[in-house]
Amino acid sequence: MPKLESMTSIRRFSLALLLAPAIAGAQAIPASTRANADKLLTAALADTLAWHRLAEMTDTYGNRLSGSASLEHAMDWILTGLKADGFANVRGEPVMVPHWVRGAESLTLHTPRETPIVMLGLGGSVGTPAGGITAPVLVVKSFDDLTAHAAQAKGKIVLFDAPFRTDLDPMAGYEATVVYRGNGAVAAAKVGAVAAIIRSIESFSIRSPHTGATRYDATTPKIPIAAISIEDAEMLHRMQERGQPMSLTLKMEAQTLPDAPSRNVVAELVGSEHPDEVVVISGHIDSWDVGNGAMDDGGGAFAAWEAVRLMKELGLKPKRTIRVVMWTNEENGGRGGRGYHDAHKAELGKHVAAIESDNGVFSPDGFRFQGSDNGLAAAQAIAQLLAPIKATKMEKGGAEADVGPIIREGVPGFALDVDDTRYFWFHHSIGDTMAVIDRAEFQRCIGAMAVLAYTLADLPQAIPR
Ligand SMILES: [Zn+2]
Repeated sequence: MPKLESMTSIRRFSLALLLAPAIAGAQAIPASTRANADKLLTAALADTLAWHRLAEMTDTYGNRLSGSASLEHAMDWILTGLKADGFANVRGEPVMVPHWVRGAESLTLHTPRETPIVMLGLGGSVGTPAGGITAPVLVVKSFDDLTAHAAQAKGKIVLFDAPFRTDLDPMAGYEATVVYRGNGAVAAAKVGAVAAIIRSIESFSIRSPHTGATRYDATTPKIPIAAISIEDAEMLHRMQERGQPMSLTLKMEAQTLPDAPSRNVVAELVGSEHPDEVVVISGHIDSWDVGNGAMDDGGGAFAAWEAVRLMKELGLKPKRTIRVVMWTNEENGGRGGRGYHDAHKAELGKHVAAIESDNGVFSPDGFRFQGSDNGLAAAQAIAQLLAPIKATKMEKGGAEADVGPIIREGVPGFALDVDDTRYFWFHHSIGDTMAVIDRAEFQRCIGAMAVLAYTLADLPQAIPR
């Protein structure tokens, strides 16, 4: 983890930046904007309120799956805080969200020995009959391996023991492996399996399974699907290789209830010259129903909140409106992002940018940008303001899920890019708690979000689309 420089050297560096002639696309970043961005960064690096608020919210309400009372109670608490901060236009914009509930669940190995296996049902999975499903096990390494052994799958519980791709960087490794979580149930059901189990999509484990959304299709029978830890997946695989007969009982009470009401939480710092032009800064409040959702994505949502609260505290008045959006239902539906798109369709032409943090609030490297080459050039000039915290990376790359629907309409998108080495240790697991959040890293994330949002909102001209 890179060490933060002393405050003195940050100030010296920032002074040099102030004096340097800089160009954002075709336009210079005015000295007043640069000076205010510098003040914001200094304030963020001393910030303690966001950490305490995140701790209080996660300690008090715990995890926040769509449809849960804890999500809505956490949103009420956040709305109260936004009003107390003096934000303008504080509101919850209604959206209906999926409502899946886990219920009680268990997995038991009977042969070659009787023992419980730690498991987590996957989000959206159907349940089992009340007595559970008891069946022998077929372990496969991949979808191709399942095809090769299709004749042996009928009536079995299929375990996909597909290791996380640690030869790739963490996000690419995740994307290469998460197909088993998404498609495992359908693939297993197509060859006659009665249930499916996946090796968790995790890059490290202390026998800690990870959940996440799964999918069914309209033409294949829906079978229950759960995740187990790396350790237990490897054990069952070894048992099969030795020719030891294995049988498991899977019990899951999971069910999908009717859609439930939820909200995107919205608050604004209204622009001083172009109040109708909007910079969205965001993260999502909902989480999976295990752990406390501190990393995914309480930290991102609260970084967005604190970035703008600091502007208010410093008395900054950017030319355009900065709109904090704390999304609902990123994890198992994306209804928050789509709902915002539909509700704000008429004003998307005046959306200058959409920023989201949803890779954890680890040490920031900069941002991934989704937009035009001219937009990227302007964004790269802004990123130089983050040199004091070594977060100047600004490269084309994928945006986050919630802002996706408005970015596809042409709004330039920014995703906070962080050191995600540890992200898939905790992601969607019981381990996602405040203990993951490093205070200094979180402060730098708040600083990066604040400087980007403020500068985008205060430039003489909006960055090019
Ligand atoms: Zn997330």
